[in-house]
Amino acid sequence: MAHIETWYRCPTCNRVWSSQKEAITCRNSHPVKAERWAIGKNGKAVAVSYRGLDWALREADLSDFIHERAKQLEGGEKC
Ligand SMILES: [Zn+2]
Repeated sequence: MAHIETWYRCPTCNRVWSSQKEAITCRNSHPVKAERWAIGKNGKAVAVSYRGLDWALREADLSDFIHERAKQLEGGEKC
């Protein structure tokens, strides 16, 4: 007769284990991913991976509002 088993799936890599302990060990074995972000003077965050460090540093200090941004660029505001 068929029987029921409980399998434990790692939420990160989807591998299935027969014990919760093995699944937890698997989950904890995956390294945390580090990301670099540039944070502007007003708290705007821009991912460095998007277009590089220099661009991210400049973009983080620029407003997302087009009029404010135009003023900042006209004024030659530096980071
Ligand atoms: Zn895993």
